[in-house]
Amino acid sequence: MSVMATNQIAPGRLELVREFVNTHELDRHTDELSGAATTTRWLEARGLSGADGLLPEHDRERLVAVREALRLLLLANNSGDPAPERALRALNEQSTEAALGLRFDADGAQLVSSCGGVDSTIAELLAIVHDSMRDGTWQRLKACLADDCHWAFYDNSRNHSGTWCDMSDCGNRAKARAYRERHRAHRKR
Ligand SMILES: [Zn+2]
Repeated sequence: MSVMATNQIAPGRLELVREFVNTHELDRHTDELSGAATTTRWLEARGLSGADGLLPEHDRERLVAVREALRLLLLANNSGDPAPERALRALNEQSTEAALGLRFDADGAQLVSSCGGVDSTIAELLAIVHDSMRDGTWQRLKACLADDCHWAFYDNSRNHSGTWCDMSDCGNRAKARAYRERHRAHRKR
């Protein structure tokens, strides 16, 4: 694997959250969670729980709600703005519906769902986010600020100042756009 390809991969289990957010590729207009079959395939490929039979539409919509709320949090990580209220509300609702709770066992304690299926998948994703917020890696998981991108990437830059998903692409496009806008403003005078 090339250095570029591994450059924006998140550490440990946080990579699963990054992959989950990136199931929707805005710039290519593809969405791996767009239907029951594709969603089930995505979950199964990662050993995550879905449904025994056809995934109910409500469950698919819940996964999409979690994904888009997480994307808003990652945009906030990037811009430095506070996380939007509607994103926090969505995550709290899903956490409640998944019956996410602390369970103790002989090895310690962990955040899990007492339900199966999509509930346990949502619980797993939110538990990873929670761990990441505690170990300090969360702030570096960002969504690209380009309006037509929003790709989730892990900021491996030394000073954590990465803004674009890929400096050779989105960064340059943003620079070109700013240049055009400046140029336009200049000509109007
Ligand atoms: Zn981008």
